[in-house]
Amino acid sequence: MSASADGDGTRVVRAGLPEEEPYAAPLPGPVFAAHYHLPGDPTGAPYAYGRDANPTWTALEQAIGELEAPDADDATGADDGGVPGPVHTVTFASGMGAISAVLLGTARPGDIVVLPSDGYNLLVPTRERLEGYGVEVRTAPTGGDAQLDALDGARLLWIESPSNPGLDVCDIRRLTDAAHARGALVAVDNTLATPLGQRPLALGADFSVASGTKALTGHGDVLLGYVACRDPELAATVRQWRKTVGAIPGPMEAWLAHRSLATLEVRTRRQAENALALAEALGGRPEVRDVRHPGLPSDPSYALASRQMRRFGCLVSFTLPDREFCERFLAALRLVDDATSFGSVRTTAERRARWGGDAVPEGFVRMSVGLEDAADLVADVERALERAASGPDPAA
Ligand SMILES: *Cc1c(COP(=O)(O)O)cnc(C)c1O
Repeated sequence: MSASADGDGTRVVRAGLPEEEPYAAPLPGPVFAAHYHLPGDPTGAPYAYGRDANPTWTALEQAIGELEAPDADDATGADDGGVPGPVHTVTFASGMGAISAVLLGTARPGDIVVLPSDGYNLLVPTRERLEGYGVEVRTAPTGGDAQLDALDGARLLWIESPSNPGLDVCDIRRLTDAAHARGALVAVDNTLATPLGQRPLALGADFSVASGTKALTGHGDVLLGYVACRDPELAATVRQWRKTVGAIPGPMEAWLAHRSLATLEVRTRRQAENALALAEALGGRPEVRDVRHPGLPSDPSYALASRQMRRFGCLVSFTLPDREFCERFLAALRLVDDATSFGSVRTTAERRARWGGDAVPEGFVRMSVGLEDAADLVADVERALERAASGPDPAA
């Protein structure tokens, strides 16, 4: 129902809404049902049992599919003749539910899967699980399109761009063309960018996979994941996986996610503006090293990110002198919560090395920039840096 020529703000407020009906709610409330009335032969019934389908998921899946679909501004490439088919979306209980549906649901013993070596930290246990099932896993970093060299014989290439937490960017179109030339499928983790920041399917990928827990829903109160793809057979495989493992979203979460989509354009625009303001302020500080944000013109990824992305996301990463400095900094912040995850309306930051999973220095900070006033955030961060630089609080 959304015309693809509409702008992002228009698309998000109408995404997935049912046809207008007198006296009905514009966005119907969540449907709580473990089963549906099911007379006679169940063949073709749209709703039969609650693990298989739910009208609240259907509406959300329609909405996400509209946003992941290439639009009038996308150079859609030659392979679809410029006439992209519909996007099929399958929602999950979490991002990891969606990721495992693609990785564990499509790889078979003897297959080769290429993963980023610097991606989301749960790719490490996922890799071990794949290897336990007889899948060969190769890894390469995101930056410099290094995964290109690992593609021979691969069945699936997994891309995470920008990577989390290092914020490197790779050329999705180039990697996808190379993978397809070798007969490999391509999945892109689109969590950080959201469909308004980057459209992997328009760049040729077979799957766009994301955690909706982050910027997509954006309030830090919902866990959700999804897989979007154009090929109905791939979608059927993913849907069958969800049904088999039961990694289904709750109707309330699905409804909250759909409601949150309406503000996705204003949230992601404001977050990217605020993130750039903070990255610029941090770049001028002597105690701060290696400020990364794909929208920062001095960032190594900027040239590629500006070609490939439409919005640069909410994350800024940087390194402080050491662990103690970093902990003093985080404790001194007034407007920034020390918390993991990202994409919320409220700014959060964390010392990423506290988890032990990422190859980052002890003083590495991943900051997720929210919707506060940029001047307030910059002032708070500068004050906290000064406080941290003055050493341990003698009263503490
Ligand atoms: C958070 C995250 C995930 C996992 O999503 P959950 O909803 O927490 O399961 C996957 N990939 C990236 C890039 C993430 O940031």
